Amino acid sequence: MRPSVVVNVAMSADGKLSTRERRQVKISGNEDFARVDRLKAGCDAVMVGIGTVLADDPSLTVKSPEYKAERQRSGRPEHPVRVVIDSGGRTPPNAAILTKGDGVRVVAVSEQADPARVSVLRTKATVIVAGETEVDLVRVLNELGAMGIRHLMVEGGGTLIAGLVRAGLVDEIYTYIGSIVIGGKDAPTLADGPGWIREADFARLTLADVARMDDGILLHWTVKRV
Ligand code: NAP
Repeated sequence: MRPSVVVNVAMSADGKLSTRERRQVKISGNEDFARVDRLKAGCDAVMVGIGTVLADDPSLTVKSPEYKAERQRSGRPEHPVRVVIDSGGRTPPNAAILTKGDGVRVVAVSEQADPARVSVLRTKATVIVAGETEVDLVRVLNELGAMGIRHLMVEGGGTLIAGLVRAGLVDEIYTYIGSIVIGGKDAPTLADGPGWIREADFARLTLADVARMDDGILLHWTVKRV
């Protein structure tokens, strides 16, 4: 069974996830950090694209001692399984996602990934090979489901999210909108890549909830199934 997928991003008031040179920006505040940590702690796995690994080097660990203890009390590892979508196997072996905190890591690569890089990654992570040149996201989610992952959180970036939306794999989206303007037509947004042309291909959302948080707003969307 494929996991349910919840996307979480923080964007500026003008819809940007970072600067045009892909430099990480603090968009939200402590209340939202705590919410994201709680959301992560409630999931079995958390996923990012290789673009985010190379730009931000996130560890994707659960930060709150309380949530970590809660996970352990319920027989789960301290941190969710951490997953990178990385066609070429470019994840640096010393990346925080592979080295910080205990737990299972998964790197999903394509058949064209460099074999030498893949064999190094196999010493640090479970490697899933799916897709000829680009990672086949449907196959990866099926494999994650077979590993027992029921709830998957996606932390970006915009290219990966667009791929997941295109494949019809996203169930829910949280967008935190913060009180800054980053600007720049080339700065990353929620759904990058080529976009969609036909209106019939646009993802349609239902607004499930709205909350004021820190100095911004949190929107919770569910994705309509067509
Ligand atoms: P990304 O979405 O993290 O990763 C995209 C890469 O994933 C692709 O370029 C591709 O690289 C790989 N990929 C493999 N198979 C794919 C598929 N089927 N569909 C889509 N992607 C696939 O990278 P990004 O768009 O450059 O985003 C990174 C930026 O987002 C950074 O600036 C980061 O700071 C920002 N970010 C912001 C937030 C936020 O909440 N504000 C969260 C996360 C990231 P290969 O061809 O090499 O495989």
